[in-house]
Amino acid sequence: MSFEDIPVDIGVVYEGERVRGKDMFVELGGPKMAKKFELALARDMGDIEDEKITIVGPDLKDMEEGSYHPFGIVVEVGGKDIEPDLEGVIERRIHEYINFVEGMMHLNQRYDIWIRLSKKSFEKGFNSFEFLGKVLIRLFKSEMNIIEKIQVTFITDPKVIDERYDEAINRYTQRDERARGLTDAEVDTFYGCSLCQSFAPTHVCTITPQRYANCGAISWFDGRAAARVDPKGPLYAIPKGETIDEYRGEYTGVNQAYTEKSLGKVNSVALYSAFEKPHTSCGCFEAIAFVIPEVDGLGIVHRDFKGDTVNGLPFSSMADSTAGGRQVPGFHGISIEYMRSPKFLQVDDGWNRIVWLPEAIKERVGDFIPEEVKDKIATENDAMNIDDLKTFLKQHNHPVVDRWVELEPEEEVAMATDDSGADYVAVPGQMTAMVGGVGGGLEIIFKNAKIYAEKVIIRRTQKGDKKK
Ligand code: SF4
Repeated sequence: MSFEDIPVDIGVVYEGERVRGKDMFVELGGPKMAKKFELALARDMGDIEDEKITIVGPDLKDMEEGSYHPFGIVVEVGGKDIEPDLEGVIERRIHEYINFVEGMMHLNQRYDIWIRLSKKSFEKGFNSFEFLGKVLIRLFKSEMNIIEKIQVTFITDPKVIDERYDEAINRYTQRDERARGLTDAEVDTFYGCSLCQSFAPTHVCTITPQRYANCGAISWFDGRAAARVDPKGPLYAIPKGETIDEYRGEYTGVNQAYTEKSLGKVNSVALYSAFEKPHTSCGCFEAIAFVIPEVDGLGIVHRDFKGDTVNGLPFSSMADSTAGGRQVPGFHGISIEYMRSPKFLQVDDGWNRIVWLPEAIKERVGDFIPEEVKDKIATENDAMNIDDLKTFLKQHNHPVVDRWVELEPEEEVAMATDDSGADYVAVPGQMTAMVGGVGGGLEIIFKNAKIYAEKVIIRRTQKGDKKK
């Protein structure tokens, strides 16, 4: 495959490249644009003009340096093995392939895409979507040989974006609804995706009927279709194996897949928990479930939420604590669709543990929040700091209030003294301490440590009062 006619380099080496605001020539989609999308559609062969590239609206060369634009990409594919179940997987490859372009950054998926082109690449001559279309067509055809015909449309005309945006949203909804009819117990195979390992090397998405991929772009049906046509590709079957704990979502097959794909860094996962051995988080998650230790609950924030959340931090700050392919207890990347699942964080008490979420998400998934708790969950209209949140939760008798405990008067503990005369607390073997708090959590592992302190305070707690 040759890219000699493309004025910039194309290759895996550019994946993960970031284009900062000061270096960008233009931004397409992104948080400043209300409507943006990328959509793959399976078409009949006769409906596709092979390798046709269409640009609707201003091309790159017509845009001003530093400007922002609404953006849509439609990739239409045909082939004898192409079926609608493959649309989600083909669509997700747009993210990967655009990131192969030197000086292009593509983030997120579906209705949330955020693309930047660098000034440097524009100056090198990458000044038309024609080039991007050629790159996409060549990569799709060479990497997915089931695609026999392909045409690509780029849309920057706001009026046309408006028209086609609804079509895209409807298509995503249809895909999501189809996956809702099946339960995890009914299948003996899950699907794994390692597409995001270029950004987060230890990350593996386990896609089950009731736990949608973190990016919200790939359902169990999509995974199945992709693994069938391209078993050596980034989506593969994960036989469930033996059930270790069905309620927690622990299976020998899933653990084995993690061990293999993360090269031993992650060995055990509970699929339905944000706290205990949680599913890993890459960086593409649509939302974060984050611990709010002051109320022993979880908040949720999605990527599009502007400004600070109830703990004083925006999505971007918490995303740093969450991402990277790690298992971070209390900072858990999730998709919007997973919030509609009956398995949603069931180990942690599901919706009964959610104390705060943006109004926009409450509206989107409202039909799936149990009626008895829906009005007890605060939004940005009810609380924007921890004190107000506590007051709201108490007033509405949220289920987490029963978890709150009264702190007893502090008791000082006599200190041991070592040979040097210094005060210390010996920590035999290994101890793991979780340090929670607004803005992030740390896991500190002490191995054969001696901790020196002037004073140690141990507080005994008991159930009852709501005081914190
Ligand atoms: S978030 Fe998961 S499913 Fe989505 S592309 Fe990344 S690894 Fe694949």
